[in-house]
Amino acid sequence: MTLIRLSGVTKTYPAPVKGAGSVVAVDDVSLDVEAGQICGIIGYSGAGKSTVLRLVNALEAPTSGSVEIDGRDITKLREKDLRELRGDIGMIFQQFNLFESRTVAGNVAYPLEVAGRSRAEITARVAELLDFVGLGGKAKNYPEQLSGGQKQRVGIARALATSPKILLADEATSALDPDTTQEVLELLRKVNRDLGITILVITHEMDVIRTLAERVVVMEDGRIIESGEVFDVLSAP
Ligand code: ADP
Ligand code: ADP
Repeated sequence: MTLIRLSGVTKTYPAPVKGAGSVVAVDDVSLDVEAGQICGIIGYSGAGKSTVLRLVNALEAPTSGSVEIDGRDITKLREKDLRELRGDIGMIFQQFNLFESRTVAGNVAYPLEVAGRSRAEITARVAELLDFVGLGGKAKNYPEQLSGGQKQRVGIARALATSPKILLADEATSALDPDTTQEVLELLRKVNRDLGITILVITHEMDVIRTLAERVVVMEDGRIIESGEVFDVLSAP
């Protein structure tokens, strides 16, 4: 089953300065991600990878083309359905984007508070999520007391709080050392394998794709220049 489908998607931004041309960030991109898959998008800085992620979670609307999640065109959703869609999509970031003034538990609880869950439900769910990511003992710590790898585990727990179908990872290991990167990638594999969550990762690092993804899409200048099984696309010529 196709969970994410971009069809002929173009995203143009207005000219950054007067007189300059507009910026074509994503140029006629078509992409299918099957449910349960780990799909990577690789490319240099400026290739259009982050824009694709922002189109998938409806933070941006395409200039033309359509974005479908689970068979629904998300560019046509009303406010209520858009909120529901956001609960179906979790996101993790290179710089973790944690709330520094909240505890680890408070960070993970946040999306559940926004969703209006009861206090008892939140406490139980937060404990379950922290166990899943291996941070059971850190509930009362603050982000500044954690290592980079632990911070990303909190980010992953927070992204999973509302039981999303899709996890979007934006350079999620780029701020981590190689050993910690492997640990976080292993956790992402567990998220995919044990929870059946579809993962779309963007990265400029070939090793991340090799370790994690089954399928890869190579972007350059807003376009897909190659795609297929990781082994076929990234094996040395
Ligand atoms: P990547 O994630 O691969 O580095 P991006 O999607 O961030 O690529 O950017 C693709 C292109 O779109 C770049 O030229 C970038 O400068 C431009 N761009 C991205 N976001 C914006 C924006 N909000 N306004 C104007 N230009 C943007
Ligand atoms: P903050 O002070 O950062 O807002 P709190 O410690 O008040 O965070 O926790 C926010 C929410 O997280 C609480 O309402 C509770 O539901 C949940 N929570 C807090 N501590 C724990 C814990 N040890 N185990 C599970 N859930 C917790």
